[in-house]
Amino acid sequence: MSQKLIGVDLGGTTIKFAILTAQGDVQQKWSLRTNILDDGQHIVPDIVESINHHIDLYQMKREQFIGIGMGTPGTVDLEKGTVEGAFNLNWRTVQPVKEKIEAGTGLPFVLDNDANVAALGERWKGAGNNGSEVAFITLGTGVGGGLISNGELIHGISGAGGEVGHMNVEPDGYLCTCGNRGCLEQYASATGVVHLAQDAAEEYVGDSKLKAMIDDGQEITSKIVFDLAKKDDDFLANQVVDKVGYYLGLACANISDILNPQYVVIGGGVSAAGDFLLERVQKSFQRFAFPTVRESTKLKLAKLGNDAGVIGAASLATKFK
Ligand SMILES: [Zn+2]
Repeated sequence: MSQKLIGVDLGGTTIKFAILTAQGDVQQKWSLRTNILDDGQHIVPDIVESINHHIDLYQMKREQFIGIGMGTPGTVDLEKGTVEGAFNLNWRTVQPVKEKIEAGTGLPFVLDNDANVAALGERWKGAGNNGSEVAFITLGTGVGGGLISNGELIHGISGAGGEVGHMNVEPDGYLCTCGNRGCLEQYASATGVVHLAQDAAEEYVGDSKLKAMIDDGQEITSKIVFDLAKKDDDFLANQVVDKVGYYLGLACANISDILNPQYVVIGGGVSAAGDFLLERVQKSFQRFAFPTVRESTKLKLAKLGNDAGVIGAASLATKFK
């Protein structure tokens, strides 16, 4: 009987599940809407029920499973297997996730923070080539990250290791949700790109479709900014993409000067801009990185898309082998 892993990617709107081989190949995938009502108390029972249901549905045996790994928002206590402060799940108080899922499924369970888990996924089966030195940055509504050094995730003393979104790239810059100013998240997230576009439009006096849209009060997204830069060669939009590339490249250089990873992998929604963005990130990285780092660390786009979470989560459970 071949051995399997279960990966769970818990998010504020959906819970993604996958059954994988012990080598990390996805065999089955499904998802559920996240029910965050009643202080998020349905989430863990829903996960338990869905796993049990699918093991039966695929006529698999519990003994086949090595274990379950999960990525979650919020602050994770790795030892206790608890989560707290996951506000998009309405989990304000400490949630005994490991205890409940192990009791409900009879399988060993392990969890980590969602960005760390996505980093493990890209490292194992994605752009990281299963290497032991990989840094991962994910650009979405916020900016997250995970740093793998010596084959291990860096957690730090209280789990904030790898919070690359709050790396300072512009002292006294835009105010961040964390209370500081000038965090990467304020320049390279979807909302950061829009903020940069709005400020650039205000100062700009030339001809620009982007400026016209903003002046007209139309809603702008990071995708609109990138599309205008790429397809319409809009001058102002290109200026904004240059800035995003500058800040991201600076952040990549700073991370790499400390860790000298083999790869810095860039993923998440904003990275859908692809090579168009990556070229500018490269340029800024080349400018700021230490010479040895510049020669040896490579920047790459993520490969797994939405699957990074479930694959990385499952990789956590390989420790039960
Ligand atoms: Zn911040």
